[in-house]
Amino acid sequence: MQMTFKELGLAEPILKAVEEEGYTHPTPIQEQAIPILLKGKDLLGVAQTGTGKTAAFGIPILQLLHNTKHKNQGKKKVKALVVTPTRELALQIGESFTAYGKFIGLRNTVIFGGVKQGKQVNALRNGVDILVATPGRLLDLTDQGFITFQDLEFVVLDEADQMLDMGFIHDIRKIISKLPPKRQSLFFSATMPKTIVELSRKILGDFERVTIKPEQATAEKVEQGVYFVSKRNKPKLLVHLLQERPKDSVLVFSRTKHGANKIVKKLGQAAIKSAAIHGNKSQTARQKALGDFKDGKLKVLVATDIAARGIDVEELSLVINYDLPNVPETYVHRIGRTGRASASGIALSFCDKDERPYLRDIEKLIKQNVPRMPEHQFVDDDKEEGQKEKEPSRPQNPNPSRNRNKNRNRNRNRNRNRSGKSNFKGGNDRNRNKPKGRD
Ligand code: AMP
Repeated sequence: MQMTFKELGLAEPILKAVEEEGYTHPTPIQEQAIPILLKGKDLLGVAQTGTGKTAAFGIPILQLLHNTKHKNQGKKKVKALVVTPTRELALQIGESFTAYGKFIGLRNTVIFGGVKQGKQVNALRNGVDILVATPGRLLDLTDQGFITFQDLEFVVLDEADQMLDMGFIHDIRKIISKLPPKRQSLFFSATMPKTIVELSRKILGDFERVTIKPEQATAEKVEQGVYFVSKRNKPKLLVHLLQERPKDSVLVFSRTKHGANKIVKKLGQAAIKSAAIHGNKSQTARQKALGDFKDGKLKVLVATDIAARGIDVEELSLVINYDLPNVPETYVHRIGRTGRASASGIALSFCDKDERPYLRDIEKLIKQNVPRMPEHQFVDDDKEEGQKEKEPSRPQNPNPSRNRNKNRNRNRNRNRNRSGKSNFKGGNDRNRNKPKGRD
């Protein structure tokens, strides 16, 4: 029997908001984390975006703040702080707090760098209960005296591994040193290398750990496929795939900013409109591209890994790994952009000769083979090594739990419009390149 939100002991106004969001059942991380947090314990969550982790921390924080609202009447101090690596992620977390908390009247605001601080300062002056922030701007406004940490009851460090990768370690340490001793701390990271474990020890007190394994998140929900293709032929293959599905929203990953720009140019030459988002683009350009993509005005978005963190697009049909990442966990993050908590998704990867070792690492991490896509017209003409190992005419299903939708995901999917749209089933000629395993 699947658990319900009601059984988690949530307050009526939160249940109502969750229902309005279309959530029927808690995701595994919500099921496990919410009771721990409602008990007042610290939490170490090993989970990536796409598992429903925002609600896993947002809902209990809202509920606990709601329970003590009478005590805090009239106070305009920040009581919950969420620190997250990117502006996109920060904005999305802010939106989630607004959605889950819409019937309990707590105020949240989002602050991030790259824009003028005036509006953010005004919002802070008006008083907020929940503050979502990227590390740099948070410290900046704290140093200027616009934020105090002394009334904090909840602190969330979100995507800690990513914050470290982005060079925020000193900022994070500074933030931790300013926190009041009495608080409930939450720490989330998709991966747990040694530095992250050490960092988590600095912030967490008596904590419980919840681990949602990446393979659970990916293997169960995202159909995958890999094309062996030469570097030179990648643009042609991409154009071909995109021309086959003009109606789909596609997120294309590039390893570098320069590469992302080049892809946009190549697509432009083939009359396919796309935009790139990466660190060298202005905040306005990034938000415009993301906004157009979310609204469906722009069908193809090309992104680097960091810029894509936290992109949460409901109708994202397809993720294309134009380059395979050399860090296998990044693959998991990428394909997690599609197949969000309740929808199923497709992730296709391009693999050239130099990237074969990356593919092996990825397959080791996700403990499954990525299905090989059938022969296509853009195979490398100098016949790369691995190409000789003739691909099976019908790729094997790499995922023994093919009937995965019969498991815990099924009920969750029922009430969600977007999950009704199966990405690959729409077009006729789409099926040609479909990863086998779900006919
Ligand atoms: P997150 O991992 O927090 O980025 O969430 C990923 C996506 O899952 C978001 O679009 C959420 O709105 C959605 N989501 C979160 N919890 C649930 C749930 N219990 N049922 C269905 N969708 C959910």
